[in-house]
Amino acid sequence: MRPPLLDPLFAPATTIAGLGPKTEPLVERVLPFDLNGREARVGDLLFVLPHSVIDRRNRPGIAGSAEGAIVTLDLRVDRHQPPPRGNRSAPYRVFGHDDTGEIALTFFRGRPDWLNKVLPVGEQVTVSGRMEWFNGRPSMVHPDHIAPAGDTQSLPLVEPVYPLTAGLSPRLLRRVIVEALERLPALPEWLDPDIMRRQSFPDLSLAFRRIHLPEEPIDVSPDNAAWRRLAYDELLAGQIALALVRARMKTPRGRKLTGDGRIRNAVREALSYSLTQSQETALSEIAADLDKPGRMLRLLQGDVGSGKTVVALMAMAQAAEAGAQSVLLAPTEILARQHHATIAPIAARAGLTIAVLTGREKGRERARVLEGLSNGTISIVVGTHALFQEAVEYRDLGLVVVDEQHRFGVHQRLALTAKGDAPDMLVMTATPIPRTLVLTAFGDMDVSRLTEKPAGRKPIRTVIMPTDRLDDLVARLRGALLDGQKVYWICPLVEESEEVRLMSAEDRYQELAREFPGAVGLVHGRMKGAAKDEAMQAFKDGETRILVATTVIEVGVDVPDATIIVIEHAERFGLAQLHQLRGRVGRGDRASSCILLYKGPLGEAARERLAVLRESEDGFEIAEKDLKLRGEGELLGTRQSGAPGFVVARLEHHGDLLETARDDARLLLARDAELRSERGDAIRLLLYLYGRDDAVRLLRAG
Ligand code: ADP
Ligand code: MG
Repeated sequence: MRPPLLDPLFAPATTIAGLGPKTEPLVERVLPFDLNGREARVGDLLFVLPHSVIDRRNRPGIAGSAEGAIVTLDLRVDRHQPPPRGNRSAPYRVFGHDDTGEIALTFFRGRPDWLNKVLPVGEQVTVSGRMEWFNGRPSMVHPDHIAPAGDTQSLPLVEPVYPLTAGLSPRLLRRVIVEALERLPALPEWLDPDIMRRQSFPDLSLAFRRIHLPEEPIDVSPDNAAWRRLAYDELLAGQIALALVRARMKTPRGRKLTGDGRIRNAVREALSYSLTQSQETALSEIAADLDKPGRMLRLLQGDVGSGKTVVALMAMAQAAEAGAQSVLLAPTEILARQHHATIAPIAARAGLTIAVLTGREKGRERARVLEGLSNGTISIVVGTHALFQEAVEYRDLGLVVVDEQHRFGVHQRLALTAKGDAPDMLVMTATPIPRTLVLTAFGDMDVSRLTEKPAGRKPIRTVIMPTDRLDDLVARLRGALLDGQKVYWICPLVEESEEVRLMSAEDRYQELAREFPGAVGLVHGRMKGAAKDEAMQAFKDGETRILVATTVIEVGVDVPDATIIVIEHAERFGLAQLHQLRGRVGRGDRASSCILLYKGPLGEAARERLAVLRESEDGFEIAEKDLKLRGEGELLGTRQSGAPGFVVARLEHHGDLLETARDDARLLLARDAELRSERGDAIRLLLYLYGRDDAVRLLRAG
C-alpha cells in the first residue's frame, strides 16, 4: 500500500486548474519519462526540469536599455493607439514612460479588451521582454510578461526555461508546475544527515523550489546542490531497489565452491607466463566469492588484451576442484572456438576435461558432448548460447562465465541461471564502461578490474588518414608484409538504407587480393561458421597475411603476431568500438599501429573524437571522453541493456554520487533489511516517488 502521505502527488495531473483534456496530452510530451499508459500525476510535473533561465533582473530604465537586451521596465501607461480601422496588419501600440524616456509596447493582432485590462491608462505596470530600437525609438514587441507594479509572483525575475512542445505555452507550463510544487507535502527526510551535510544537500522541498523558482541562474544548474540532491535521491532509490533484488537472488541458494588449489596450481604451471598483479588480485576476489555460500555476481572488467581469459580459466579450475562444472559462454562462434583453442591445451595439462559446443556441433559429436555434460565427465564447456538450449543438461553446473556480456540480452541471462542451482556468475567485459556506469549497465555486481596489461606490450601508434591516401597505405603495407607482419583490414557493414554506398568488405577484399595475390583472407558475418573458422585459422597460421573483416572480429580475437590494423570509415564507429578493434593488435612484443581511414572532409566533432583515440590507449579514459562527447545513453546502448534511463540524474554531472549511493544503500539494508526503521519508512516513500515500488513488494513477499 502506498503511504497516504504521497496521495497529493499521485492525484491525476488534470486536477490542476488549466490542465484539461486538450492541454494534458501536451504536458505529457514534456515529461522526461514514459508514462507507459498510465495517466500523468501531479508529482510527475515536478520532474519537468528547466534547462536554463531567462535573467530578467536587468532594470536599466528605457534610455539605458541596449538593443536586443532582455530588460524589465517599470512604466506608467500613457495612451493606447489601436491600428487604424481596416488595417489589420498594423500593430496595436501602447505608450508608456519612465524617468528616462518613452517606449512603445507593440502588439500584432492585439486584443483591445485584454490590452486595456492589463495595461490600463494611468497605472504603474512592470513589463519584461526584449528591447528593440528602431530609428532611435525604443519599443518592446509582445512583452514576455506584463504585471501590475509590485506583483512579483507573476513576473519571475529569474525565469526557468522548460522544454517546449508545440501548442503548450511556457506560461501555462510554468503555472502548473508551480501548482504541483504547492501540493508537494512535507515528507520526512530519508537521506542520511552526514551525507546531506557533506554534500550540502537541501531538503526535498527546498530542492524542488530552488529549481522551479530560481533566484539565481546557477539554481537550475545540474551541478548545483539542489539538482544534485534530486539526482542522489534517484540514484539511491535505484541502488536500494537493485540491492533488494540482489539479496533475493543471493540469499536463498548458492553454495561454496571451495577448492584445494591443486588444479589451479597445475594451470599456473602450464602457463608460459606469470600472472600480472591485477590478475592475481582479481583471482583472490573471485576465490573469496566462490568460497562463500552466497552466490557470486561479479563483473571482471579489463581493457582489451588485459588477459581476462586466463582469469576465467582459473575460476573454472577452482569450481572443478570443488567438483562442479563450468560454462564459458562467448557471444560468437569464432570466439567460442578461439577460447576453446587457447584454453584446451592448458586445461589438458592440468587434468581438466574440456569441450566445445555451438550450433555447429551436430550428430555424434554433439551427442558425445551432451552426454559428458550430463554425466559430469566434462568439467568445462565453452560455447555459444547453444549451451542453454533445452536439450543440454548438466550434472552439476556451479559456475557460469559470460564473456562480453553486453551482447547478451536479459532473457539469455535468465535462461543461463535456470540451468544450474543458482550457479555463481562471472561476467567479463572489455567494454570500457566507466566505473560510474557499471552499476547502470550491469546492476549491482561486485567489480574486479584488470588495470594493467601483461608486461612487455608496446604502445600502439595511431594514425588518422584520409581515404585518398590509400595508395600510400598500400605501399607501406607491402613493406610491412615483406617484414613478416600481419594486417587486419576492417570494413564497416553495409546498411541498405545508406545513401553513400560504402566499399564493402568483399569489394575491398577483391582489390587487396589483386595487390597481394594469395596473401589476403576474408571473414564477415554472413559467412558460414566453418568458412569463418578456416579464414581465421589461415590468418593465425600465417597462410594469409591480410585479413579483411567486418566487425565480427571486434571482440576477443587473439592473433598475437598481428601488428597493423586498418579501419575504414573510422568516423562511423563509436570510440569504444574503435578502441576494441584497435586492441586486436599490440598483443605481442612487436610495435604495432592502427590506421584510422576516414572519408573526408571530417567535421570538427568527428576530428575531435578520432583525436581522443590517437592520444590515449587507455580504454577507461577513452570511455570517459566518449561519454562527455556523446552522453551516457548512446554509449551504453541503454535500451539494449535494459538499464533504466534516469529522469533527474545526469551521469556526466552526477556520476560521482553513484558510488556513494551504492554504499549508502548497502549500509542501510545491512542495518535494516526490511526497511522497518524510521529511516526505512521514509525510504519507502522515496521508492514510491521514483517508481521503484516493485522493490517494496519484494520486501513484503519475504
Ligand atoms: P582479453 O582480456 O582481451 O580477453 P586475453 O585473455 O585474450 O585478453 O589475453 C590477451 C593475450 O595476453 C593472450 O595472448 C594471453 O595469452 C596473454 N596473456 C594473458 N595474461 C598474460 C600475462 N600475465 N602475461 C603475459 N601474457 C598474458
Ligand atoms: Mg577476451
